[in-house]
Amino acid sequence: MRTPAKDMKESTMNRLKFLGTAGARFVVTKQLRASGGMWLTLDGTNLFIDPGPGALVRCLSSKPKLNPMDLDGIILTHRHIDHSNDINIMIEAMTNGGFKKKGLVFAPRDALEGDPVILKYIRTQVEQIEILHEKGTYRVGTLTISTPLQLHHGVETYGLNISGKHGSLSLITDTNYFEGLASAFRGDILILNVVMLEDRSDIEHLCIPEAAMIIDENKPKLAILTHFGMNVVKAKPWEIAENLTKKLGVPVIAAQDGMSIDIDRYLIS
Ligand SMILES: [Zn+2]
Repeated sequence: MRTPAKDMKESTMNRLKFLGTAGARFVVTKQLRASGGMWLTLDGTNLFIDPGPGALVRCLSSKPKLNPMDLDGIILTHRHIDHSNDINIMIEAMTNGGFKKKGLVFAPRDALEGDPVILKYIRTQVEQIEILHEKGTYRVGTLTISTPLQLHHGVETYGLNISGKHGSLSLITDTNYFEGLASAFRGDILILNVVMLEDRSDIEHLCIPEAAMIIDENKPKLAILTHFGMNVVKAKPWEIAENLTKKLGVPVIAAQDGMSIDIDRYLIS
């Protein structure tokens, strides 16, 4: 049986938890993998990134349970439904049903205007909405977030660099590969959304060979693959990760639903 002391330790350590690893529409709509996004705890700050379908349910069914009230902020990299579906309910959960005005929400402008994915009445519940833009720098709790580049993904999309006291994480979310992509995201830990096994010019997503090129160029302390499309799921992502580890000499892991990574060992040298 889990002791309260152990719960306390797990809730305060620096970690990255995957509440979903699905990418592309079939893996998401059939829920072959969960699609809840990521929860980052770093230096006492709790951030949720890309609350896709099931984010709230996965938080509450997580072991130990993740309490959205503990969040300091929610980041939306772009408006696509597999990233944004639960953003409104996660804001409501972060703010205790809207009764405690708190937290920051970061989102591209097109998630807020036109056909907004963040509802207007929900926006009043948070302390502040920050609009992401290219070369932006933002603060949340103890952390600094930067969005050096707009990615190539049809809708307005930003990759993230998140820096804490002892190191940094980068997230290259949905994008086509392009010159200069790797060098903008040089975090100690590099998370890559890799939807495809092989390149397809008609789909603006990274494939495994492109992810390998980026990892090889940046040589992070740890690379994490996630957001898998059907062909990647079928090809056993854990085997792909193992092969890349051997080939590139960099630890590469394939995220799994519910996986919690102790990130301290990669940040504190
Ligand atoms: Zn997308």
